[in-house]
Amino acid sequence: MQRADPLAFRQAASRFATGVAVLTALDSRGEVCGMTANSFVTISLSPPTVLVSVKPGKTHEAMSASGRYGVNVLPEQARGLSSHFAGRPRETHPDYEIVEGLPRLSNCVAFFACEVTRTIDVSDHTLFIAEVSECDYCDSLPLVFFSSRYHLGPGKPVDH
Ligand SMILES: Cc1cc2nc3c(=O)[nH]c(=O)nc-3n(C[C@H](O)[C@H](O)[C@H](O)COP(=O)(O)OP(=O)(O)OC[C@H]3O[C@@H](n4cnc5c(N)ncnc54)[C@H](O)[C@@H]3O)c2cc1C
Repeated sequence: MQRADPLAFRQAASRFATGVAVLTALDSRGEVCGMTANSFVTISLSPPTVLVSVKPGKTHEAMSASGRYGVNVLPEQARGLSSHFAGRPRETHPDYEIVEGLPRLSNCVAFFACEVTRTIDVSDHTLFIAEVSECDYCDSLPLVFFSSRYHLGPGKPVDH
């Protein structure tokens, strides 16, 4: 089978606008792990099922070991928090609380508590499929990722 050119694939994929989330989990010592992710997908409403695609690292390890993860959807002013959890840590640690045994970041647009039901390894990533045991949201605008850059909130809504 022919394979798309890697650069063209990356650039075309970046045109799919997404929100930005921080996946959180507790490791085996009870330490908080977190990583920025935009691969969050809702799979079904009943049962409420989601997936994230995660490459190996500390957060992958904590999610695998605990069988649980939190999805914290970032608000539009949270670019610094996204960078913090994408390998560029800030000196001050982000505020969080432990909810249902999962770290929940403060002031997020939405939070999902997820129980892993299945994992599938695909090339250098693992798909963590999970049922949502609890979720919550507020009406703040989300941070948007498009064309490899952050954008403030969604555009104006249009009629159907
Ligand atoms: C907007 C945005 C969206 C992103 N979306 C995603 C996403 O959907 N999925 C995703 O996986 N990443 C995504 N990333 C990248 C991710 O946030 C960073 O790679 C983050 O640092 C990973 O956190 P960690 O706890 O796994 O880091 P660490 O454990 O500190 O690992 C850092 C990196 O080292 C490498 N590494 C560490 N241990 C291993 C190991 N055992 N085997 C192989 N490699 C290893 C990996 O490349 C890993 O990402 C995104 C980043 C941004 C900015």
